[in-house]
Amino acid sequence: MSGLTRVYQHSGKIGTSPLIIFFLGIPSTMILGFIYGYVSVYNPLTGIVSVLLILLFSVAVGIQISLLGKSGKCRNMPFLYLAGFILGVFAVYYSWVVFLYAFTNRFVDGSEITLLKLILNPGKMWDYMGLIAKEGWFEVSGSKIKGGLLWAAWIGEALFIIIASTISATFMVNEMIFCENCNKWCDEKGSVSIMFPEDQETLDAIAEGNMDVVLELPKIGAHQFPQINCEAFHCPNCTNTVGFSFRTVFQIDDGEGKLTEEKELIGPPIILEADDFEAIMTKTISAATDENAFPADPVEPVDAIEPEQEDGV
Ligand SMILES: [Zn+2]
Repeated sequence: MSGLTRVYQHSGKIGTSPLIIFFLGIPSTMILGFIYGYVSVYNPLTGIVSVLLILLFSVAVGIQISLLGKSGKCRNMPFLYLAGFILGVFAVYYSWVVFLYAFTNRFVDGSEITLLKLILNPGKMWDYMGLIAKEGWFEVSGSKIKGGLLWAAWIGEALFIIIASTISATFMVNEMIFCENCNKWCDEKGSVSIMFPEDQETLDAIAEGNMDVVLELPKIGAHQFPQINCEAFHCPNCTNTVGFSFRTVFQIDDGEGKLTEEKELIGPPIILEADDFEAIMTKTISAATDENAFPADPVEPVDAIEPEQEDGV
């Protein structure tokens, strides 16, 4: 292969994401925190259900940031992690505001507490938390959780929310490709499955984006495993940003006859010249590998891209 290849890296530009995250991320985090705070007061689930609830809340905070980051064309992952961390802290704070508001409304007669009073008064929130911790208010296996144990649970909960929202803040964008020429995210455009290499050296070469190796390996059916899945990306506007991300795919048997696919990204995405991209996309399944194919597996160029080379550069 003669064409140039290069490794794709996010440019680090943040686009309009700070504005979008600020104006939309804060209100949506407040909505999520409101729901979470209320559910915690009226349905103090314990055990695995409450862990799932915390997970759901924190990942929802993170994923909304990654979605807002995507729509704001953010190609700077550290910035999104930072946004995830800050909104994670805010999510903890605001869910406490709502929790204390709902808690006093439920259990304290004639409470005059408002959300605004609480949100502007962390000292008062701290006092209320101390009171609740002293008495405890829900039971696990018949004994009331209070004091140090309750504080420890609260701290664990807060850390969990902050860490999970930080980690999930790049979820929707970190494997995406951006065309800097056109200022657009690339589309995913099908994939090609090629034979899993027999040695580690060849696997490493693929991870490094050695296209000669990728071209040499025969194409196999999409349902043959293990395989290397070459997932194509393509700028919707131009032919300058086209290429592949490579994944190893194994089929795992869970022991009860249920088969699942385990995919793992190897190496960074590789940008190719349009001709070389087409050469891989239009590979045909070689006769040599056909014998391994599942009988029901249609020999498929079904996921092959329709050649749409506008200018053939
Ligand atoms: Zn483009």
